[in-house]
Parts: sequence; C-alpha cells; structure tokens
Amino acid sequence: MNDKSQIWYGFCTYWTDDWDFLKPTPENKGIPSCPECGSVGFQMTIQDWNQGIAKYEVPDNPGYAVFVTELKEKCHGKTTMLELWEQKKGVLAKEVSPEEEE
Ligand SMILES: [Zn+2]
Repeated sequence: MNDKSQIWYGFCTYWTDDWDFLKPTPENKGIPSCPECGSVGFQMTIQDWNQGIAKYEVPDNPGYAVFVTELKEKCHGKTTMLELWEQKKGVLAKEVSPEEEE
C-alpha cells in the first residue's frame, strides 16, 4: 500500500503517508505499527488529515502545520503530538514575550 492517499498516525508522534515504513510486529498481530516504538495507530485520508491540521492551527495555534510536517516519520515514544506541541508552544511563547517586566 503506497498510494499516499491514506495517512497513518500513531499514539506516538510518528505519522507517514508511506505505509512501507510501518512495521507489523508479531506482538500486535501484524497490524501496521510505528517502526521505532511499535505503537499501533490510526488511518485517515490525506484530505481529512490536512483539514484537521488547518482547523487546529487557526486561530489559536500558529505554526502547528509546520510543526506537524516536521514530525513526519519521527517517533517520540510515549509523548503524543499534542503534548509535544504544548511543550513547543510554551517555548515559542517565551521566545516572543518580552521579559523586561519588573
Ligand atoms: Zn513511535
């Protein structure tokens, strides 16, 4: 399956449109899984995936789409995509806010 119309995304931050990267393991009975942590996952169409990201980005999460794109085929183990985003958002907010207040 390599037609790139279906996104696979795991409980970890791993996602891909190339199912050849996914690794079915004996432990989870051959279900496509994250090649790094073995997490099972979900699938959705690329259209739904992109729409979901766009909806989440505007208006409260500027930069989310770029963030997700950078996570492609990267596993962060037990950290979910939203947890990682919240962390990154915290860092971004600190970078932006002036810290000269006394
Ligand atoms: Zn993973």
